[in-house]
Amino acid sequence: MTALSDILAAQIRASGPMRMDAFMGACLMHPQYGYYMTRDPLGAGGDFITAPEISQMFGELLGLCLAQAWMDQGRPSPFALVELGPGRGTLMTDLLRAAKGVPGFHEALTLYLVEASPVLRARQAAELGEDRATWLERVDDLPDLPTFAVANEFFDALPIRQLIRADEGWRERVVGERRGALVAGLEDVKSVPALAHRLADTKDGDAVELCPTAPAVIEALGTRIATRGGTAIVIDYGDWRSLGDTLQAVRAQAPVPFLEAPGEADLTAHVDFEALARAVPEGCHHSKVTPQGIFLERLGITTRAQALAQHLSGTKLDAHVAAHRRLTAPGEMGTLFKAMALYPEGAAPPPGLDP
Ligand code: SAH
Repeated sequence: MTALSDILAAQIRASGPMRMDAFMGACLMHPQYGYYMTRDPLGAGGDFITAPEISQMFGELLGLCLAQAWMDQGRPSPFALVELGPGRGTLMTDLLRAAKGVPGFHEALTLYLVEASPVLRARQAAELGEDRATWLERVDDLPDLPTFAVANEFFDALPIRQLIRADEGWRERVVGERRGALVAGLEDVKSVPALAHRLADTKDGDAVELCPTAPAVIEALGTRIATRGGTAIVIDYGDWRSLGDTLQAVRAQAPVPFLEAPGEADLTAHVDFEALARAVPEGCHHSKVTPQGIFLERLGITTRAQALAQHLSGTKLDAHVAAHRRLTAPGEMGTLFKAMALYPEGAAPPPGLDP
């Protein structure tokens, strides 16, 4: 039980069970007790660790990938360099450092960071410098400029609904309350238009997840890319098509039941890349969804790893070799995580990704 579970229980008593997206949204972003509002969950001592925190190579390779796409599109200037959910600012720091070698890139860019968490905004400002970036609440607030964007483990934090196939329709997973405690339940729902196409490939009892806010984010990026140029690279765990319950609660790097500690545990769900692809607007294309390990190998992670290894020995070298493996090996992040890019019609996808 947490302060937030009492608040949610009272709210449910007053107005009935909550959909999972409302529950997850409150757990992560409640202004006072939301998980991301109160802490920096990243890094070795935190609740979870992400690719840029594992190795500098991740941000460096993404930086060179975006810079190459920028060159391939004729070096537009000025352009918006954008990160969604920049965490501690580590990826952007590594990206900017690597792209220093690309003539004109730094001079042409204006940096925009889309970040909801005040704690992480402060952390990003400390890492990158207060004056280095403009912070935005929402993707809609981005300027109308050529847009080169990256989003690593951003979409997995957006709240999802969970629907269970029942006959020719769906039942919805909800959170209710019993004697002050939060309990999971199911409710009948009317038709779910966004899942009409899933009636063909699911059977009774199958769970399908739906992220109501993700399509608008893709649409906002895609519209700028279609009209002004640019590219957006989305990296996250998940697959082409959502199937099954993937909601995961993690506290101190260990899984916990999702109702156990609202606001104290990170909640994420697998990203449904097909749903992102379906939201890509006219004039914009999306690449094939590619496993992270393959994407990073194509960008030259092994060559970069060897170059860095030259200056390392002992436990530092061991950690570096382990980090390379963790990012790319099939049993680790290499296949679970996927990359997909948006790019303008008539342009090539960024290096490492296929049309
Ligand atoms: N990209 C970073 C951090 C991933 S954690 C990394 O790879 O290390 C998720 C990030 O998205 C955090 O910065 C979190 O505060 C931010 N975030 C989550 N939901 C958001 C939302 N709805 N709007 C803006 N930022 C959000």
